[in-house]
Amino acid sequence: MDDSCTPPDQAASGTGSDAAGVSPQASQPSTASAGNSNTDPNLNGPLTLRPGHELPFVAPSSYLRPKPSSRTMSDKTSNPLDKDQMQGLRGIREFLKVRTSYDVLPLSFRLVILDNDLLIRKSLNILIQNGIVSAPLWDSRNGTFAGLLTSTDYINVIQYYCQFPHEIDQVDQFRLSSLRDIERAIGVLPLETVSVHPMRPLYEACRRMLKTRARRIPLIDTDDETGRETVVSVITQYRILKFIAVNNEQHTMLLKKPVREIGLGTYTDLATANMNSSVLDVIHLMVKYNISAVPIVDKDNRVMNLFEAVDVIPCIKGGAYDELTATVGDALSQRAEDFGGIYTCSEEDRLDSIFETIRKSRVHRLIVVDDDSRLKGIISLSDILKYVLLYGEEEDDLQEY
Ligand code: AMP
Repeated sequence: MDDSCTPPDQAASGTGSDAAGVSPQASQPSTASAGNSNTDPNLNGPLTLRPGHELPFVAPSSYLRPKPSSRTMSDKTSNPLDKDQMQGLRGIREFLKVRTSYDVLPLSFRLVILDNDLLIRKSLNILIQNGIVSAPLWDSRNGTFAGLLTSTDYINVIQYYCQFPHEIDQVDQFRLSSLRDIERAIGVLPLETVSVHPMRPLYEACRRMLKTRARRIPLIDTDDETGRETVVSVITQYRILKFIAVNNEQHTMLLKKPVREIGLGTYTDLATANMNSSVLDVIHLMVKYNISAVPIVDKDNRVMNLFEAVDVIPCIKGGAYDELTATVGDALSQRAEDFGGIYTCSEEDRLDSIFETIRKSRVHRLIVVDDDSRLKGIISLSDILKYVLLYGEEEDDLQEY
């Protein structure tokens, strides 16, 4: 599926600001110079940028709304803010129950499906050439859907290479159908290949994604004539949250509690790296923590950038597994020119403004920073989806999914 497709509902609202990945603050001289200094973690002062190392620095999203007034714990249960918050969440949940996964799809889209027999090395080039980061796999011998290829699979291949470096020639000849054997060989749990029918409620797709920690889910139908499986498309957490943001302003505007108060995101035991860390070290962190992105910080814990699982794909283009000793700084400097930057927010920002940012831009996660751009936490799309679906729900209501 092409993530760059625009759902019909969204087209109406106009997402022309998608390219504005770096918040307006980044263009202000003071912030830009602080952020672009690309500080060497081993030195005290800012360094002159080496050619090719000019990385997009991201400042806190200034269009996030101002701090709401603080409230005491005693008025927490009865305060109108809480009532609005619950009303907003319920509104979104009802919306997800009456819309289907099919509704999320744009009117026209491109779907790249890869044959399971393809060499893994070649699949990398196909993803890069098509500007996509995942693809459904097809078993043409049995005529069945064979799972979803994602950056996690490439990370598994890298781990395999690290564990069995003398087998580089063999790794080069691996086909997509070998991915499950690779999982077994390196001892990782196989990713559950969940899927949903496109006409089932969107709520169901969301619940399955949360249950399996999948960041995307294939929509599988059955062909009426042949009775065979058909891959309709793939929907991502990003696409679902965008769909919610674009079509639910009346509900998202009620979510006025600061992220600090609702505990949205992760704030302890954060996995970080610096510009001089090797790509391989960052990959090991992602595996250890089971996460899809690692903030890149300087020696003062100021956020410089973010290394995402999808950044691994260009690093191993052509099967260059032995080049993973390159630094994060080198790898990030090879990002596409149109890379939208990363998004930051403060602990005082609210979910209504996060949804507003999602509505306007291509947000995959938010890095929570203080006024000095120091790392405080990270809010991933799965954190937002989880909160929106599960917060305040009774156990009984959750059983049926
Ligand atoms: P994600 O991999 O982005 O879907 O995130 C999965 C979970 O891990 C979420 O609860 C995130 O808040 C958390 N998380 C994401 N990145 C990091 C990180 N670098 N360090 C610690 N936790 C993280």
